[in-house]
Amino acid sequence: MTPLPVSPVPCLSDNYAWCFATGEGEAAVVDPGAAEPVQRWLALQGLRLRTILLTHHHGDHTGGAWGLHQSTGASIVGASADEHRLPPLDWAVQEGDRLELGLHRARVLAVPGHTSGHIAFVVGDVLFAGDALFAYGCGRVFEGSMAQMWASLDRLRQIPDAARLCCGHEYTSANLRFARHLEPERDELIDAAVRCIGQRQQGLPTLPASMDEQRALNPFLRCDEPELQAVLGLEGLSPSEVFAHIRGRKDAF
Ligand SMILES: [Zn+2]
Repeated sequence: MTPLPVSPVPCLSDNYAWCFATGEGEAAVVDPGAAEPVQRWLALQGLRLRTILLTHHHGDHTGGAWGLHQSTGASIVGASADEHRLPPLDWAVQEGDRLELGLHRARVLAVPGHTSGHIAFVVGDVLFAGDALFAYGCGRVFEGSMAQMWASLDRLRQIPDAARLCCGHEYTSANLRFARHLEPERDELIDAAVRCIGQRQQGLPTLPASMDEQRALNPFLRCDEPELQAVLGLEGLSPSEVFAHIRGRKDAF
């Protein structure tokens, strides 16, 4: 699959709005936490905004949506389950829906846990995961149960065509600190941390992240892995119990 060219546009303190061209001079954005940085990106690229995709209702993901809609006429797409707490939607979507975005198709996945109505989008080889899954981490479980969040992550890790992860925050460095705390013997985590520090020192984003790497190293995606369970002394627990343990430790880290 040809990689989808995506741009992480920094918004607010550590959010990314993900922008990509959709053909014929048009573009889409995922989770614009603020309008101005996205406007600047559009002006630089010479593109018109056609579609605004929202993964969940938190203000740091939606704050720019209405302003962008008003200034560009772009359609706002979000979860029908959260219609009452999202900016006015042009398209209310749910699990399994498919959207046409110019040259590209987007698939909608319901991934509750961080919020009850959280959705993710798969476009080409990219998974736009919002705050469900981060590089080497995952979102806090605010509205769902631990079992529900684990089921969502289990689902995301199995999407065959999602090769690159585009998530809502630049949290990679802090997540790697926690991952290394859990598994101090994993050399690959040290390599990833060195790479991440280098990127951040140059002012570069650490994303997109490789999903293969996340499946191999992100502790939150490996709750059913006997090796990780053994390191944590959690043999015999169910994956969602292991997830609850790891999430609890991260919340207190
Ligand atoms: Zn959030």
